[in-house]
Amino acid sequence: MIEQQLTEIRSEMPESVKLVAVSKFHPAETIRIAYNAGQRIFGESKVQELEAKQALLPEDIEWHFIGHLQTNKVKYIAPYISMIHAVDSLKLLSEINKQAQRAGRVIDCLLEIHIAREESKYGFSFNSCREMLKQGLWKNFEGIRICGVMGMATNTDNEAIIRNEFAGLYRYFGQLKNEFFADTDYFKEISMGMSHDYRIAIAEGSTMIRVGSKIFGERNY
Ligand SMILES: *Cc1c(COP(=O)(O)O)cnc(C)c1O
Repeated sequence: MIEQQLTEIRSEMPESVKLVAVSKFHPAETIRIAYNAGQRIFGESKVQELEAKQALLPEDIEWHFIGHLQTNKVKYIAPYISMIHAVDSLKLLSEINKQAQRAGRVIDCLLEIHIAREESKYGFSFNSCREMLKQGLWKNFEGIRICGVMGMATNTDNEAIIRNEFAGLYRYFGQLKNEFFADTDYFKEISMGMSHDYRIAIAEGSTMIRVGSKIFGERNY
């Protein structure tokens, strides 16, 4: 089942797109099945849950933190986290920088941009993100690399809305690249697309899809 789902999803992905298998709410044994099927990138959204699983599972797993991250919890995951997808404030970026340096690491980060119609406390607006980058404080942060952007489309069956939001994030990524990251080869990721909309996301230029329920089945909250 898990193996088949992985095979199916991979067959739809261009070489350049990475698959983050979102394993939140699923136990370590379930993750191991996907690991044995060759999957190495896993996404989690709760620090405590990630901590417990990370301790049990192989070292060569690339853990991505995809949920909202509280500043006071960064220190727990800083020693091993590969990428943090949902950075939505300068304060959080600054704390990741501090804890990465303390751990002797450089942590890859994505800026979360709010593109959906739903209200959300999280994510930068296009304008607030640009303002933050213009200020330039992030240029002094040697413990992080800003590798791109992340976004979630509106939860709707209307494909035109989803497509439009993903297309907007893709364009915005290009603008930021030109304005702030023209010289940085690592600013190249657009994390967008989940179980119900990853095909649209890939068509609109996603470089990383975050797929959970399609691989692991429904989550029991
Ligand atoms: C849970 C989650 C996903 C995966 O959602 P599915 O619909 O199960 O694929 C992707 N991204 C984020 C930020 C999530 O919290």
